[in-house]
Amino acid sequence: MSITGLHLLLSYQCTNECDHCFVYSSPSARGTMSLRFARNAIHQAQDVKGMEEIWFEGGEPFLLYPVLMNAAWYAAMVGFRIGIVTNGYFATTVEDAMEWLRPLVELPEIALSVSEDVYHGSDEGDNPAARTREAARRLGIEADAVSIEQPCGVVIEHEKGEPILGGGVRFRGRAADRLADDPSLPRKPWHEFTECPDEDWDRVGRLHLDGYGNVFACQGVVIGNLDARTLREIVREYEPDTHPIIGPLKRGGPAELVRHYDLPLKGEYLDACQLCFLARRALRERRPDLLAPPVVYGEDPGDASQGEQD
Ligand code: SF4
Repeated sequence: MSITGLHLLLSYQCTNECDHCFVYSSPSARGTMSLRFARNAIHQAQDVKGMEEIWFEGGEPFLLYPVLMNAAWYAAMVGFRIGIVTNGYFATTVEDAMEWLRPLVELPEIALSVSEDVYHGSDEGDNPAARTREAARRLGIEADAVSIEQPCGVVIEHEKGEPILGGGVRFRGRAADRLADDPSLPRKPWHEFTECPDEDWDRVGRLHLDGYGNVFACQGVVIGNLDARTLREIVREYEPDTHPIIGPLKRGGPAELVRHYDLPLKGEYLDACQLCFLARRALRERRPDLLAPPVVYGEDPGDASQGEQD
């Protein structure tokens, strides 16, 4: 692994329920991290060689405002760069948003990533995301816009040989269920998806951690749980070749996952992530420890089969 970043999913709860969300966040989703758990994870991140930055995301991390501020300050004080992903829902006005962001101004290295697209109201002109970015600009906080648009049939670029459809959507999570029906979108046979477009399994660069203690390579693909092992142990003991899900993905992408487990998914798909997500969901009953939590797979958001940490 070449880990440089730990991304804390403070909660799966969000103000929105976007069609393209790959962790199935919604107002009723749970999986909320306590402050004690977040600070302990940050403390453990100090033991991981090469770790440089802590990101806070979700769900919507500003829904847990006191936890977010306390944990962000703690992470900065122990020497990490800080990043926060938000939809800026709190920005009733630019001036109000400045008050929400003001406690972050003194952090030595802080960046905001603001979701600003049609799913988050960017077609409404003066929208919360735009107001948040303007507030950040006035306060001298770096802020980028993250934009996912409605998928269209135009291939805009290729990554590792895989086409990315216009709009930039990856068809995993809720996008695999809600955005994939359009018959005008181009599809390819399952056996052509022989590579994961995003992950280099030998050199995973960032990990995600949720409030259930799951540590992910890609969201929903668990490589360990903080209930059972420390972050350092999970990183040290990570072996992609023998991981029952990552092994096939590494050898031959989602197509190999389908072949290896003989899954009834031998049709046509929009991208590698759609086939991968559907294959993993089909395998969840067999490996609920490695394919978790239920909310990421679109199962009951109130599901309490995994306990939240405290
Ligand atoms: S192919 Fe699978 S593992 Fe790779 S980025 Fe897509 S969903 Fe994640």
